[in-house]
Amino acid sequence: MRRYISSYHTHCALDDGHGTMEEYVLSALSKGFSALGFSCHAPGALQDEWHMKKDDFSYYLEEIHRLKQVYRDRIELYAGLELDYLEGNGELVGSEYKDQLDFTIASVHMIRHTASGEYLSVDGPIGEFTTLLEDNFDSDIEKFVHYYYSLEERMIREHSFDILGHCDLIKKHNRDNRFFDPQSQWYKKISGHFLKSAAKHNVRIEVNTGGIARGATREVYPSPAMLETCRSLGITVVLNSDAHQAGDLDFFFSSADDLLVQQGYRSVDMLLHGIWQEVPIV
Ligand SMILES: [Zn+2]
Ligand SMILES: [Zn+2]
Repeated sequence: MRRYISSYHTHCALDDGHGTMEEYVLSALSKGFSALGFSCHAPGALQDEWHMKKDDFSYYLEEIHRLKQVYRDRIELYAGLELDYLEGNGELVGSEYKDQLDFTIASVHMIRHTASGEYLSVDGPIGEFTTLLEDNFDSDIEKFVHYYYSLEERMIREHSFDILGHCDLIKKHNRDNRFFDPQSQWYKKISGHFLKSAAKHNVRIEVNTGGIARGATREVYPSPAMLETCRSLGITVVLNSDAHQAGDLDFFFSSADDLLVQQGYRSVDMLLHGIWQEVPIV
């Protein structure tokens, strides 16, 4: 049993999650959390139903600030955002809010559809994924996967942030190896190259249980095989649930801890007392 439990990847009704932030705090308290971070999808260039609206950002900060005061003796609360990397201009959307935040998560969800110029998601509706695959990459999944990881590498080179979000999100629609075999040499080579680059830039990678919670994947991001590589490269990890409803805050956490220990991890990173630190899990 761990002494400290936390998650820093949390959505709510202000973006594509459900429920108020206070409901998440109450759930975290009932689950014995030491710290909880909020990370709505950053407002900015992408105005759609899953990003926070710009007009809601000041309320978001005020409400987290209020909750920090109300619950300060019982749990540490942190204000963050999940920032989107956009390949067109290399922008990490929401970076301009960094000064007002306790932490940031950087994620690649979108790729620009070359024919229309529109951004399509790799983890949203399957039709967007297949449109990208067919139109941008001539139905060559290896090219698609390679491109996805190269965008993450660009983001790592060009920006600083606290956590890299769900680094193998490209597998979200690949349940039952529908599109590719992650055991194949080419996949290992591409993902391994990416992880080496992450290690070189001292990137903190999250172990994200959200794909399982929502029934999309049967394993965490990153895959157990990639986690093993992370461990051998000395990459530090943080355990996050990417919860979209309050009850999921610690979803699959004990199994994820077991997996981490199996892969050789003895600690995870946590933001405690305002400082990122390594905390033992065994
Ligand atoms: Zn995400
Ligand atoms: Zn998220």
